[in-house]
Amino acid sequence: MAGDYPEGRGRVRIEAAGIPIEGVSIAGHESFYKLPGFRTLLEFGRAPEDVLGYATVCVTHGHLDHIAGLAHFASRRRLQDLPPARVFVPAEAAEPVARWIAACEELERIAYRLEIVPARPGDRVQLRNDLELTVLPGRHRVPTVGYLFSEVRHKLRDEFAGLAGEEIARLRSQGTDVTRREEVPLLAYPGDCSEEIFDAAPQLFAARVLLLECSFLFPEDRDRAREYAHIHLDDLLARADLFRNEAIVLTHFSQRYRPDEIRDALRGLPEPLAEKVVAFLP
Ligand SMILES: [Zn+2]
Ligand SMILES: [Zn+2]
Repeated sequence: MAGDYPEGRGRVRIEAAGIPIEGVSIAGHESFYKLPGFRTLLEFGRAPEDVLGYATVCVTHGHLDHIAGLAHFASRRRLQDLPPARVFVPAEAAEPVARWIAACEELERIAYRLEIVPARPGDRVQLRNDLELTVLPGRHRVPTVGYLFSEVRHKLRDEFAGLAGEEIARLRSQGTDVTRREEVPLLAYPGDCSEEIFDAAPQLFAARVLLLECSFLFPEDRDRAREYAHIHLDDLLARADLFRNEAIVLTHFSQRYRPDEIRDALRGLPEPLAEKVVAFLP
């Protein structure tokens, strides 16, 4: 996978707090993340072979380093006769994305099987019996949403605890709701964002894994981070005690940084950040 990427950057495979995350993320170049446990893709800067089988895609915004792969994905899935894929995009971007995909269908004289779903903050989608997607607000230079994946558990209500299995089955057959729903926030991802995201989407602090862009690291890049609505490492330091996450996976580093510079900058982090932060680097 090298060659096409800056030195030391490229395909990454990590496991953060038990959740495998794989992909590529280089600011302005390409971002996509495979979440094998959820059979879902986050972002789509390009469509490599091994993601074609994923039928759920969550795109945070229309910058091409996050969405350019979508048409290619649709075309290749159609050639392989795969069933329809569902693509979540920010509601304001749904119409231009649909027009773009339609133009590609016209060019290829073929109908893709892509369902473009407008995503609005607060929307909830059941991905599986045990997995729910919640749309979070975004904060970036173009319309953006974030995504939260939660495990859904159905726990027996306390008042039925001690009952025999047959008794519970009998109550259930009579229509009694014997379970309560419990949600465990597994992974949150706000897409590209400025530090305002922490006020807009406080859910970020509570997910087991926070996948967070951190495009900029050094003091001389502070203004650049503000101007382009990206996270700077200082934004994390200012909130160091608020993160209740087990792991914070930092990603989307500027192409200007070498991997050793990135690692050095993160090595200098104080606790409690140091023990949680993982760099999304090969
Ligand atoms: Zn980006
Ligand atoms: Zn962007």
